[in-house]
Amino acid sequence: MTSRHGTLDQFATWARKVIAHHGATVAGDPRSAEVFQSSTMSALLDGVYDGDITIEELLRHGDFGLGTFNRLDGEMVILDGVCYHLRSDGSATVANRTDRSPFAAVTHFTPGITLTVDAPTSRSGVLELIDQTVESPNLIYAVRVTGALSNVHTRTVKAQTPPYPPLTEASDGQAEKTFDHVNGVLVGFRTPEFEQGISVAGYHLHFLDDARTSGGHVLDFTLDAGHIAISTASELHLRLPTSGAFLQADLVGEDVSAQIHHAEGGD
Ligand code: ZN
Repeated sequence: MTSRHGTLDQFATWARKVIAHHGATVAGDPRSAEVFQSSTMSALLDGVYDGDITIEELLRHGDFGLGTFNRLDGEMVILDGVCYHLRSDGSATVANRTDRSPFAAVTHFTPGITLTVDAPTSRSGVLELIDQTVESPNLIYAVRVTGALSNVHTRTVKAQTPPYPPLTEASDGQAEKTFDHVNGVLVGFRTPEFEQGISVAGYHLHFLDDARTSGGHVLDFTLDAGHIAISTASELHLRLPTSGAFLQADLVGEDVSAQIHHAEGGD
């Protein structure tokens, strides 16, 4: 009995040390946070729409992020540890943990910087404000904009059937929607230019309304009033698929930037 308790005590002490060390790292420099990304934007452009990572596994790497689902069946928002599935009719539901994703990026959101917007501000105004606030264009920033929006223009990709067309073609058939006078949250990232192709350089935002019942990939918006929270990351954990179409995909297209702009809109 005594030795068994001794072992348990040793384990508890060790566990406390590990947890304390982890906490100290995060508290020491929140910028050391990691973005975990599954597959690449260039693979999505090339029509690699089936991935092997589950929502369950994604949620182990972060509580905040975005992406899409297998077959390109809609847009993904991860907020406060819950994964939402946004479909081409603009509806949103909580995703199944067994669903899989061909492309997603998540982080543990730590709002190191917060800004308040108290007058109607356009998308470019909000993004400029963030650009002026962040320390460097060469780090990764998770961005959460919460508030009242006079409009949000979204699009949501539709589920595809094999043989899959490239994303520039698939996105031509996307459903667009405008939400007027809505409260909600914009969830996404500001990614450095040098990551173009691995990810979407510049801003990539998805919208989810306050009721958590509708949303989409953001093309444009006007924020009437709200708060911007920014979480800095300096580590990128890139998980590449080890099976399926990714292995044969052509991922070195010369016009990656133009294709991303065509498919994703915005920057
Ligand atoms: Zn998107």
